[in-house]
Amino acid sequence: MKTLRTTIRLAVLLGMAAACGCGAHRPAEARFHGDVAAWNGEAPGEVEVIPMVTGEIEVDRSLLVDLSHPEMAGRKDDKVWVPVMAYLVRHPTKGDVLIDSGFDSSFAASGHGNFGGLAKLLNIARQKPGHDTASLLRQLGVEPASLKMILLSHMHPDHTAGLPELPTSVPVIAGPGAMASYEVLWYAPQDHLAGRETIENLDIAPGEMRDLFGDGSLVVVSTPGHAAGNLSFLVHTARGATLLTCDASHTREGLDHGVAPGKNSDANASNESIGRLRRFLADHPEVKVKAGHDAADWDLERGIQDPL
Ligand SMILES: [Zn+2]
Repeated sequence: MKTLRTTIRLAVLLGMAAACGCGAHRPAEARFHGDVAAWNGEAPGEVEVIPMVTGEIEVDRSLLVDLSHPEMAGRKDDKVWVPVMAYLVRHPTKGDVLIDSGFDSSFAASGHGNFGGLAKLLNIARQKPGHDTASLLRQLGVEPASLKMILLSHMHPDHTAGLPELPTSVPVIAGPGAMASYEVLWYAPQDHLAGRETIENLDIAPGEMRDLFGDGSLVVVSTPGHAAGNLSFLVHTARGATLLTCDASHTREGLDHGVAPGKNSDANASNESIGRLRRFLADHPEVKVKAGHDAADWDLERGIQDPL
């Protein structure tokens, strides 16, 4: 009886979520026309990378990391608050680039911000006033309209939720076929892509690394599996190189143990991506790591973090 009730409740929830998700604006996908080269590991120019904590979201630990993996034996599931990040890359000649869009200012006003679907009924997000992406960019002296591009690690709502307050004139670049992961079940985007005609797709194969500016300062790493067209980034400043796993690994623990996130669009691909990142880090021990949603990596009281 209990099982039947659970099944019915699940069916209703999934049905509602599907209903809430439909109708969201879906821009066409187009090929990214920028020049990209393979990474040669060279030292960078004078580039700055400034991480920003734009809010927090409450999730199941089993979503962050696959708790059914033998490496995770004994770890219990619970709810955890994790940071929602965006990263400003300031290049001396190529201009300012944003990696992921964080949260817009609606998250300071309610516990679901601009999430759609069933998330509208819940308090699963929070933000300190003024810590939205556009406000933090302005605090850093960057007018959002002057951004050269917004690179999205993937199209899940906690990465697209800053877009409504970022000008539609700024191109949005994502991995191959990334739009396939835009509408996710119960916290489907309300309409994060309103007004955008296209999402430009990087032409990058699984595991491939592309040097976006040709000087080693910003390298796109293809890490499919968590979501369609999933991307990680390698940034290289005067302080050294840092791998931003984004959601290829939500936590440092997952990466260290070789355990993929708990939810994936393709679990096998996700495991392969984690394996590739671990091999890369083993070959390059000098590269620092910041995982996509690891609270231990950041000072959550501050929006603007220390530069990488
Ligand atoms: Zn995420």
